[in-house]
Amino acid sequence: MAQYDYDLFVIGGGSGGVRAARVAAALGKRVALAEEFRFGGTCVIRGCVPKKLYVYASQFPEHFEDAAGYGWTVGEAKFDWKTLVANKEREISRLEAIYKRNVEGSGGETIHSRAVLVDSHTIRIVDENRTVTADQILIATGGRAAAHPALPGHEHCIYSNEVFDLPELPKAIMIEGGGYIAVEFANIFHGLGVETTLVYRGKEILSRFDMDLRRTLHETMEQKGIKILLHSVSEDVSKRAGGRLEVTLNTGQKLTVDQVLLAIGRTPNTENLGLEAAGVEMNKQGAIVVDSYSRTTVGNIWAVGDVTNRVQLTPVAIHEAMCFVETAFRDNPTEPDHDCIPTAVFSQPEIGTVGLSEDDAAKRFKHLEIYRTSFRPMRHTLSGRQEKMMMKLVVDGDTRLVLGAHVLGPDAGEMAQLLGITLKAGLTKDDFDRTMAVHPTAAEELVTMYKPTYLVKDGARVEN
Ligand SMILES: Cc1cc2nc3c(=O)[nH]c(=O)nc-3n(C[C@H](O)[C@H](O)[C@H](O)COP(=O)(O)OP(=O)(O)OC[C@H]3O[C@@H](n4cnc5c(N)ncnc54)[C@H](O)[C@@H]3O)c2cc1C
Repeated sequence: MAQYDYDLFVIGGGSGGVRAARVAAALGKRVALAEEFRFGGTCVIRGCVPKKLYVYASQFPEHFEDAAGYGWTVGEAKFDWKTLVANKEREISRLEAIYKRNVEGSGGETIHSRAVLVDSHTIRIVDENRTVTADQILIATGGRAAAHPALPGHEHCIYSNEVFDLPELPKAIMIEGGGYIAVEFANIFHGLGVETTLVYRGKEILSRFDMDLRRTLHETMEQKGIKILLHSVSEDVSKRAGGRLEVTLNTGQKLTVDQVLLAIGRTPNTENLGLEAAGVEMNKQGAIVVDSYSRTTVGNIWAVGDVTNRVQLTPVAIHEAMCFVETAFRDNPTEPDHDCIPTAVFSQPEIGTVGLSEDDAAKRFKHLEIYRTSFRPMRHTLSGRQEKMMMKLVVDGDTRLVLGAHVLGPDAGEMAQLLGITLKAGLTKDDFDRTMAVHPTAAEELVTMYKPTYLVKDGARVEN
């Protein structure tokens, strides 16, 4: 091993790369980590963290409105975008420093440069114009927003990277896409007072989520004033006098907005990385092909996180990194477990979900029991807000196993974390029934739905 400069060289200082570098260095391995932009990666710098801060910012107008029913008189409220951007920057810079420090504190070396492969054991530190060697190499270069070069006027559009640092808050925005990033930003901008239109080519936003959640969220977003145009795609974006943008949709409809945000998918960062030179294979989407242990087609080169395009979430990248360290450095081969991943959409209202949707469960199980409730949460009683909360359990009618749990409403993401434990543990509906409610909460509904709302037999809904 000593013939190499390092035991492990990690390319990419995001969620997966930082965790792997830190844990391997703490084991006493000689580790270096190269990051070309900012330590912390997408999640910390231009993903989960700033996004959630902006979600909080965008919720205040509703809190101010709701306060009246509780006896408060709130004076004139004003929002300053530049203050939010500056405060966000301060927070992510703090986290960035912690991420870097954590690697160094564990004994790893951090390098601020782009790094590319020269061959299976050699890495070029591009900005320093030198090469180093490593026994094992981990590629954790993540992904980026998919560009749309075929769209005339695409150069006028922005992507999720730019959206956090816009010089001005737009008066009107069009967001194209139906995934969680598009939906979250539609809610953020609407909450901040921006006239918001969400344009999506599919038949309903948020494919892969339970249809009940998708429809109910769609309705609620429209009730709040967000325009949602389905079966629609933009065909042209033109700049008009005064700098505004005119978007022409496939339906012939024209929208005049200040910004167009394209959130139409993510592309793995694999270009010009020297993968071909090292013999690392990619699939048609440009993602690195790995086996169930995250090993690439080259024995000593591994890949974790978004660059492998398995499940694009921060906790998954971190988990894959931990499994990689177990496998490569602790003589304990460990496959990442991608089953039953709880997740949230920080829309308004929020989605928290784990396990199978009703439609997916119906394809795999003959008898389903569906427990569903929709109610006005207590916090909305005095406020007068009409928004409903929805909860749904999808249960295998034969074994009573809870296959899916879906929540739409305040704190749904927090609930999904705990529901994730129950589904991972393979608990049954009887376990839910035996659990004492916490009163008064919204979550207590999850353990007090005793009778199925309806059944699904051989894929068809049967009233109970
Ligand atoms: C707007 C947005 C919101 C999101 N919200 C959530 C959320 O709420 N919850 C959640 O779980 N996930 C969320 N995600 C997804 C999450 O950010 C990613 O799944 C996660 O960051 C993936 O981690 P990673 O380590 O694979 O890659 P990344 O975090 O992307 O890190 C890769 C790093 O590699 C660097 N790099 C690339 N090439 C090179 C090179 N050649 N040399 C050196 N460095 C290089 C990049 O600069 C980057 O810092 C969100 C993503 C976006 C875009």
